Formats: sequence, structure tokens, C-alpha cells
Amino acid sequence: VERTLSIIKPDATKRNLTGKIVAKFEDAGLRVVASKRIHLTQAQAGKFYAVHSERPFFGELTEFMASGPVVVQVLEGEGAIAKNREVMGATNPADAAAGTIRAEFAESVGENSVHGSDSPEAAAEEIAFFFSGLELV
Ligand code: ATP
Ligand code: MG
Repeated sequence: VERTLSIIKPDATKRNLTGKIVAKFEDAGLRVVASKRIHLTQAQAGKFYAVHSERPFFGELTEFMASGPVVVQVLEGEGAIAKNREVMGATNPADAAAGTIRAEFAESVGENSVHGSDSPEAAAEEIAFFFSGLELV
């Protein structure tokens, strides 16, 4: 079965939405197999989002990701990467389909409540960024 990396972003932890978001994952058939709450520094957020370092919103993005605690999780299930992206909804909540996490909870295109890996390569890299082998069973 496939695994993917999910982050519940600071806007969502701040509003105490972690449980409601995890329920969306579980309702979609995804299983939480690793989970922890951490507070990234802006430098760590920049390392994680290095692919976006040339984008105009990079500073805003890394500042936001370091603005409060996040919950990083490994989700497992059949087609977990695509399934997670589906339940997250479009990046901009204005474009997100009804019932998706971003449609229900996101505040803006930047403060959009969740991150999810977008490919098998990214999933492997992002899971290893946050979790050691010992934490993955
Ligand atoms: P993520 O990678 O967080 O799962 P995504 O794959 O839907 O989201 P990306 O294009 O990879 O979207 O952008 C990464 C993140 O950067 C977005 O989730 C959002 O928080 C932020 N972002 C994207 N576009 C903008 C923008 N125009 N203005 C501000 N922030 C943005
Ligand atoms: Mg992305």
C-alpha cells in the first residue's frame, strides 16, 4: 500500500481543527500511521519547501509555516497520494470542491490548512524529512 506525507498547517492547528481534518482523511479510507506536532523554524520550512524557493510567495509561505505548530503525519492507503490530494481540494479554497478540507476550512490560497505530497518521489523524500525509520511501522 502507498504512503504519503500530510501536514496540518498553522492556520488549522490555531483554530483547533486537527481532529476534524483527521476525520476527513479517515472517512476517505486513509489511515494515520505516524503523527507528531512540531513547530518549524522558518529555515526548516524553507528547506521543506525548497522547490518553491524562486516563487514570489516563498517568504510569505515559509513565514506562515513557522508561525505556529503543525501536525505532520504519514497517511497510508490504496492510492494514498492521489486520495489525499483529492480530499484536500484545490490549492485555492475558492476553487476547492465542496466537502474537501480546503473548501471547508482554508482561509486563503496561502493559509490553506493542509499540505500533501504530489508524487511518489516527493512522498518518499517528505516522509524521510520528518520521520526516522524507527517511527515508521
Ligand atoms: P502543498 O504543496 O502545500 O500541498 P499545493 O501542492 O496545492 O499545496 P503548491 O503550488 O505546491 O500547492 O504551493 C505550495 C503552497 O504555497 C500552497 O499550499 C500555499 O500554501 C502556498 N501558495 C501557493 N500559491 C500561493 C500564492 N499565490 N500566494 C500565497 N501562497 C501560495
Ligand atoms: Mg505542492
